[in-house]
Amino acid sequence: MGKRNINNFKPTILIVDDIAANRFALRQLLKAIDAELIEASSGEEALLKAIELDNLALILLDVQMPIMDGYETAELLREEEQTLHIPIIFVTAVHRDEQHILKGYSSGAIDYITKPIQPDILAAKISLFMELWRLRYGLEKEITHRNKLEDKNRFLADHDMLTGLPNRRRLFLEIERAVNRSDRDKNEFALLFIDLDGFKSVNDTLGHKVGDAVLIQIAERFNKLVRKTDTVARFGGDEFVILLTDISDSQFLIGRIMDVLKVGRQPIMIGNEEIILSVSIGVCIYPNQIDDPDKLVDYADIAMYKSKELGKNTFSFFSSDMDQAAHRRLAVEKQLRHASKKNEFSIHYQPVVNCSTGKAVGVEALLRWTNSELGNVPPDYFIPIAESTGLIHELGAWVFEQAIEDINEINERLPSLPMTLKVAVNASTLQFKNSLWFKTVQKAIKTKKIAPENIEIEITEGLLLEDSCDINNQLSDIRALGISLSVDDFGTGYSALSYLKRCPINTVKIDRSFIKGIPEDKEDMVLIHAIIAMAHGLGLVVVAEGIETQAQWDFLKSENCDFAQGYFFSKPLPPQELEIWLSEQFNIG
Ligand code: C2E
Ligand code: MG
Ligand code: MG
Repeated sequence: MGKRNINNFKPTILIVDDIAANRFALRQLLKAIDAELIEASSGEEALLKAIELDNLALILLDVQMPIMDGYETAELLREEEQTLHIPIIFVTAVHRDEQHILKGYSSGAIDYITKPIQPDILAAKISLFMELWRLRYGLEKEITHRNKLEDKNRFLADHDMLTGLPNRRRLFLEIERAVNRSDRDKNEFALLFIDLDGFKSVNDTLGHKVGDAVLIQIAERFNKLVRKTDTVARFGGDEFVILLTDISDSQFLIGRIMDVLKVGRQPIMIGNEEIILSVSIGVCIYPNQIDDPDKLVDYADIAMYKSKELGKNTFSFFSSDMDQAAHRRLAVEKQLRHASKKNEFSIHYQPVVNCSTGKAVGVEALLRWTNSELGNVPPDYFIPIAESTGLIHELGAWVFEQAIEDINEINERLPSLPMTLKVAVNASTLQFKNSLWFKTVQKAIKTKKIAPENIEIEITEGLLLEDSCDINNQLSDIRALGISLSVDDFGTGYSALSYLKRCPINTVKIDRSFIKGIPEDKEDMVLIHAIIAMAHGLGLVVVAEGIETQAQWDFLKSENCDFAQGYFFSKPLPPQELEIWLSEQFNIG
């Protein structure tokens, strides 16, 4: 049999004899054996030591001792759980007759050695016991090790490594239990789906290590809020789920939700860094709001999205309209993935007119999607989905290339236009965070289908607010190519005009929500007046969006707005219709 590594853990032999000289003699005989030798001078002492020692491999027990003899000691050793299996060898000078030997065996001896002891036989016997002990000990250790490993694996299988919280798998088991309990006891439980607001930027700006530390602290805080019967699970990334059992008292539920919001807002210290986040919560109650246990987490998740839409740092209860909205979103997402291949996208162009002449100078390219199942899906609805799925990068590149292609064609087909038609293309913030975008723009310029000064890229106020070097450099690079930049939907975001001063922007487009109020809403009109005046002061060009009436048009002209766009002049048109519209406006052909 191969040697086992038992970490040098030595076996112990207990020598029990009332006569010190005998103990000494045995010690001498056992010197060569690789074991620790311990002595006891009485049966009582032997019992105490045997219980204390956990590596006791053998007891050499003298038969003849005063008060408690060897037989009695052996019997008592057999009665104790801890000492029951320790082998005993009786050592005796007298009692060599068969009857005594039998008595020895029946009281628990394994073997008998009679004095005078023959050293070789003793050494051989004892070595055998040592080997047996080593095998047994090794096996025990292996079993404990294996058990520990199994426990660990079991723990890892249903816990999250980072926070130590139950994981998704375990959560679903707990939900199943909660459903059974709730059905049986006729009470309700709640699921809170929690997402950390702003966690992504912690990861992006401070690194994953800090992000991990934040998650650990948040997990601890949540854990402190709940009762033993509740479950706090990490669902993934920065998402947690709390299962609150038996919420018969609605005050209790609201109290816990408030607690979660509160601890979510408390500053988190990581090193010298103080991080302030918040949480968005979606709540779903079983069986009150929903009786399909499989969908509980999904529904709480949907409700959580509602909280995000409401501006984060809040909670929402699930309702069935949310379910419909979520289904529609999923359906759109599914169709959107194949829309490009199925050529379902097209671009419509809305004329932009000069306020002094009322004549077109350019167009804005507006993406259109017609799907065989969903019909026409408005861009305000599908663009955010394209953004969240990452499809926006390819889609944005396609719009840019296609728009240049279309406008180039119109310019070629209408040589008698008094100007070269310009084109403005919308770009979403995300596109500036992917290298494809700048490459697309650069490549399109190289084709020379349209001069760069006839191209404008519309960005949102949010992009300016990001205030990142990378993005600012990219904006400057685009300007360096000769392309203009405009800020779309101006006035709806947070950007102050001071931002515009710092960025290489040419144009602001006043959002149509301000135009709508003309001529009734005096406040809007004052605002428009101020925006135009300040923009002009900064040397920027102003475009007004969403002109629908003569009154609006008159007002903007009187305010010296530079350009205007809206249904009053034309709706966005497919390229062929745009060509006709232009021909009519300029009396061509
Ligand atoms: P936007 O860039 O502000 O585009 C103007 C929107 O106002 C267009 O809506 C246009 O059809 C609409 N509009 C123009 N004149 C009037 C008017 O007189 N009255 C009213 N009520 N509406 C008017 P649309 O085409 O539905 O586009 C919505 C938004 O979707 C766009 O707002 C833009 O932010 C986004 N979008 C469209 N195409 C693209 C694209 O290719 N890329 C990106 N990233 N976003 C796009
Ligand atoms: Mg636009
Ligand atoms: Mg706009």
